[in-house]
Amino acid sequence: MKKLVMIGNGMAGVRTIEEILRLAPEQFEITIFGQEPHPNYNRIKLSNILQGDTSFDEIIINPLDWYNENNIQLYTGEAIVKIDVEGKRVISDKGREVDFDELIIATGSNSFILPIPGADKIGVTGFRDIHDCEMMIKSAEQYKKAVVIGGGLLGLEAARGLLNLGMKVDVVHLMPNLMERQLDSIASSLLKAELESQGMNFLMEKETVEILGDERVTGLRFKDGSEVEADLVVMAIGIKSNNEVAKSNGIYVNRGIVVNDFMETSVPSVYAVGECAEHREIVYGLVAPLYEQGKVLANRICGLTAEPYTGSVTGTQLKVAGVDLFSAGEIFDDGQTKSIMVYNEFEGIYKRVLTRNNQIVGIVMYGDTKESTKLFRMLTKKEDITGISIFQTECSAEAGGDVASMPNDELVCGCNGVTKGAIVEAIKTQGLTTLDQVSHCTNAGRSCGRCKPMVSQILAHTLGDQFDAAAAQKTSICGCTTISREELVEEIKAKGLTSVKEVMNVLEWNNEEGCTKCRPAINYYLGMIYMDEYKDDRDSRLVNEKMHANIQKDGTYSVVPRMYGGVTTAAGLKKIAEVAEKYNVPLVKLTGGQRIGLFGVKKEDLPGMWEELDMPSGYAYGKTLRTVKTCVGAQFCRYGTQDSMALGIELEKKFERLDTPHKVKMGVSACPRNCSEAGIKDIGFVGIDGGWEIYVAGNGGVDLRPGDLLCTVKTTEEVMEVTGAYLQYYRETANYLERTSKWVERVGLNHVKEVLANEETRKALNERMDKTLKKYSEPWNEAIQSEEIKDKYYTKHTVKVGE
Ligand SMILES: Cc1cc2nc3c(=O)[nH]c(=O)nc-3n(C[C@H](O)[C@H](O)[C@H](O)COP(=O)(O)OP(=O)(O)OC[C@H]3O[C@@H](n4cnc5c(N)ncnc54)[C@H](O)[C@@H]3O)c2cc1C
Ligand code: SF4
Repeated sequence: MKKLVMIGNGMAGVRTIEEILRLAPEQFEITIFGQEPHPNYNRIKLSNILQGDTSFDEIIINPLDWYNENNIQLYTGEAIVKIDVEGKRVISDKGREVDFDELIIATGSNSFILPIPGADKIGVTGFRDIHDCEMMIKSAEQYKKAVVIGGGLLGLEAARGLLNLGMKVDVVHLMPNLMERQLDSIASSLLKAELESQGMNFLMEKETVEILGDERVTGLRFKDGSEVEADLVVMAIGIKSNNEVAKSNGIYVNRGIVVNDFMETSVPSVYAVGECAEHREIVYGLVAPLYEQGKVLANRICGLTAEPYTGSVTGTQLKVAGVDLFSAGEIFDDGQTKSIMVYNEFEGIYKRVLTRNNQIVGIVMYGDTKESTKLFRMLTKKEDITGISIFQTECSAEAGGDVASMPNDELVCGCNGVTKGAIVEAIKTQGLTTLDQVSHCTNAGRSCGRCKPMVSQILAHTLGDQFDAAAAQKTSICGCTTISREELVEEIKAKGLTSVKEVMNVLEWNNEEGCTKCRPAINYYLGMIYMDEYKDDRDSRLVNEKMHANIQKDGTYSVVPRMYGGVTTAAGLKKIAEVAEKYNVPLVKLTGGQRIGLFGVKKEDLPGMWEELDMPSGYAYGKTLRTVKTCVGAQFCRYGTQDSMALGIELEKKFERLDTPHKVKMGVSACPRNCSEAGIKDIGFVGIDGGWEIYVAGNGGVDLRPGDLLCTVKTTEEVMEVTGAYLQYYRETANYLERTSKWVERVGLNHVKEVLANEETRKALNERMDKTLKKYSEPWNEAIQSEEIKDKYYTKHTVKVGE
């Protein structure tokens, strides 16, 4: 097998790998290096994360299990620093060396940071990755005033997000018009007025010359001498192709890594794709052209005859609620161009098409972009528009009419290059009935998601009478089926299905092996329904759960023993120290959940270490109860009103190992000073005089959310009863991989309170919880006892991710 290495684990690169796997699944042994410590995620949706519409988990495109299933060796958090083009080897910043036959460079780009004094101060960031988002979200908790430099697409999306996070936002822009490369002055002023009405403040025609402050930013100074205050500065003035690793190793670079029409660089067997690549003097910054490049490259690398990549015309949209705009091609008259225009100042609608020689060469639309796909097609196909009415009248714009008259080669999903014809064909030949299925089969709607309403219309039009609107919108478990979570649970119960295989078989999954999304979900639902009677299907679990250890970014594992309530003993510490020493554990670290983690452990050492530790697994890898963090409490702290440690230990002992839809963390504080941070846990307990307050749905991660008060109880027994019922209700009604914070927001806190207020219901929920808890045994111990488990999971040949 030929060795294919890819540098960069982002959108364009991984899409290329997907195409390669589709064309020739067995042709390459694939290794990917990604500098970020995550699997490939949808960078486009970072704006949505900042605007509070989605969570990081939801924007992961290829989970770790996808790499594993496709035998891809993934090294996350590891950058390639050297390419030995002669010796055909890459070398990482960890000193790892990997040989290649073919190399793809897909290193994307970096935010362009203004080279001005103070640009390195704390509180100054670009807007490129999840780390930048997290930094902005954290800043918004502590600070009030943000300044975004750059009134382009990224700057405005960042500014909208910061407003949503409660900050006061100024947008500084060098030019007189916002998005001046995409919009003319009328569209730009309409956009500005809308954003001002949303609370954004604009400082136009200002050139930033200095960032003020000591260690942390306090403001900006402009060229005209004026200043503005700032606790956070986001630089969104553009991107810079990330090509250092190519340039410093003799690969020809101009603005980007220069490639030909087959994405080949100046060095044989080395290719570049994505934002790092420069094709015919253009470096693209939107996914649509990058995915086209990926297709061409995949064909080339697999040795198939490929059409050359000849360049793309791109269309721009802005992902800000309340703003509907589209722009493509040229926007300025050049004396040869003629405009066709509609301008309705009352309704804030402006549409202008720029033509030359009876062909559309530019489009600017604001307030109504319904015709953008049609016009964009005319532009890209250079259609003759003589005699064609460019803008729809009210009567011609009836619902459905659009789709019926749309030609088959019209692009519906701009990001992924999917035409109406391809969607109709997939619906007809593969019997698709839901939006999710269409997305899964054709990629339409998989990136920015703006084409989803159009895909829905095509689905309705193609299916005619058989179209079921509610069913079409329904979110299926995954692309292997049309079945939703509710239907799956109902069908399992009604048909008495008892195994993952049986579910997929009887419910006619279109992929008989299932996928990394549906298999763990089915396994969870079966366990939830059949309680102690279900035999867990270990191979259907997510990879960390299957291994009972977290895979680290360098391919080693972590061992985190249970430490109930964060309490240990001198003997326990000694044992951990001895094992760490014996197995040369490179890192011994106190975790955020008050335990001791041993990091950097080889897979084959896991059972031996577990045996010598003789401690239960802390499940630091599972969709289950993780930790119960406790404060010192009444035993030792002079403020403590309750015994927080005892309650924490009791809770952890009772609910450890329980399968839950997502991970669950708890905290117990013995007074409202809240040293265990119980206010941001899935369930938090705060001691007060004569009882406990119980908080739920808190979250301390990227989607920071304070817990809501569920109820106040007097005794420990009541705490256990409410917790058992609450957790069981979550288990029975949440979607697999839905955190408690999202679940409570979806079903409503009042609804949960009403359910738990009923004594009978509480009792029944607790009975089912207790029945479920009976089935669990200690997984590390099981592995120690079983040669079969050791051989299957803990010898060198198993599990590929990051190995
Ligand atoms: C906030 C935001 C909103 C956006 N909105 C849109 C939109 O609405 N529509 C649209 O089409 N596009 C949008 N984009 C652009 C789109 O996300 C990019 O075009 C796309 O991600 C580029 O893919 P890529 O693979 O070239 O680069 P990336 O996705 O950036 O991936 C490159 C990866 O390579 C890694 N890397 C770099 N150097 C090394 C090294 N030496 N070793 C190992 N790894 C390395 C990087 O860490 C990175 O993870 C947006 C981008 C951002 C930031
Ligand atoms: S939360 Fe209160 S009782 Fe617990 S350690 Fe802090 S101050 Fe003491």
